[in-house]
Amino acid sequence: MYIEDTIAAISTPQGEGGIGIVRISGSGAEAIGLRLFRFRKGAVFVSHFLHYGAVVAPDDGAVLDEAMAVLMRAPHSYTREDVLELHCHGGMLVVERVLAAVLACGARLAEPGEFTRRAFVNGRIDLVQAEAVMDVIAAKTEASLALAQRQRAGALSDRIEAIRHGLTKRLAFVEAFIDFPEDDIGEADTVALRAGVGEALNEIGTLLTGFDEGRILREGISVLIVGKPNAGKSSLLNRLLKENRAIVTHIPGTTRDIIEETVNLGGLAVRLLDTAGIRHTDDVVEREGISRTLDKIPQADLVLFVLDSARPFGDEDRLILDAVQGKITIAVLNKSDLPPALDLPSGMGEMPCVALSAGTGAGIDELREVIRTTFLHGAALDSREFVAISRARHRDVLVSARSALHRFLSGLDEGRELETLAIDLRDALSAVGQVTGETTTDDLLDVVFSSFCIGK
Ligand code: GDP
Repeated sequence: MYIEDTIAAISTPQGEGGIGIVRISGSGAEAIGLRLFRFRKGAVFVSHFLHYGAVVAPDDGAVLDEAMAVLMRAPHSYTREDVLELHCHGGMLVVERVLAAVLACGARLAEPGEFTRRAFVNGRIDLVQAEAVMDVIAAKTEASLALAQRQRAGALSDRIEAIRHGLTKRLAFVEAFIDFPEDDIGEADTVALRAGVGEALNEIGTLLTGFDEGRILREGISVLIVGKPNAGKSSLLNRLLKENRAIVTHIPGTTRDIIEETVNLGGLAVRLLDTAGIRHTDDVVEREGISRTLDKIPQADLVLFVLDSARPFGDEDRLILDAVQGKITIAVLNKSDLPPALDLPSGMGEMPCVALSAGTGAGIDELREVIRTTFLHGAALDSREFVAISRARHRDVLVSARSALHRFLSGLDEGRELETLAIDLRDALSAVGQVTGETTTDDLLDVVFSSFCIGK
């Protein structure tokens, strides 16, 4: 039933724009196109050719909009089904009327991510690639985009497939011994099995190690700027915002105090938390002292602890220092342009320090670099070749695959029954297969695709 009906949605962002596209996928797409599209020349669709004409109402034939139409016949389309796109003028009302006409012709409104889900169900892409499509759309820095594009193109899928291939071979080997119980598994066989499974474990280990950085590239990090009044928090914030023009999001929260702004720091998307709180230091925050900001520390991946290097270390600095214990923190020694008067207490021992002037901008580049290298290392820093898992879903299934393989190895050492060893291998294979969706359930697919946008 899933694949039998024809779905439709507006695939461009809602709003005013140059063009708006209504996309239709399914066996009814061409018939709908023939009913709704009046060709300027000819009367039939040539696959993958853009036709010029008009979209008309299905009942009275009134022109809804001047438009272009393209039919992509199965299987050479995004979903591997017949896909029709109607390119109209990009007004909200125009595309909504065109969509309504398409629905009136029998298409059903697509669910979020349903086009991509069909691409997956029809075998054009695997689950990692489907997720990567979403990441490509959401990417906010070049590095996160590059990682998403590599995943979408199949670089991670290939790695997973290689692990599956190796494990399938070992499973076949073990099953052969189960089928012919008269043959005993010998020392050499055990060694080969152990080596094969060890290889898979290594590769899984590598992918798991890359997870933190993959996730950081995909999601970015959240940063909280703390410091006593007049240390220079808002000057630093403004400097970061000004020098990194890519302010990507403004997310107003329930109160005016919580505003999140994202800047692109050398490929790392950095969400600056509570920027309104910093900007309004003269009212609420000032009265409540710095404790309100300190409450936010647990939410942050990184704390920038701003100190005024022209003033001695004070009680408020001490309060902050206690509050950031155990948190990844960079001490920002601000006002480096003024004569120094700050003695850092021994408690700051290992904390990375950057001396800078938010006023003149000197040292800001170094801060940016320290933030970047605190979170990204090695391959991830030079992100051109970096392939990683980037979602908790990937990590969780690889962790369970790893446990199953460890069970297998200890079972082999203990001389356990081959049948139970085969179960461990099958468990591992099934877990690895869940990354790419080789093994999957409808529930899992619902979860993955529900976070997509409609029309994708
Ligand atoms: P906040 O209260 O921590 O947000 O501090 P502000 O950013 O409002 O800065 C407090 C004062 O210090 C302002 O008068 C700034 O102009 C000044 N200030 C901030 N950064 C620097 C700096 O790097 N050098 C100098 N000389 N003054 C600075």
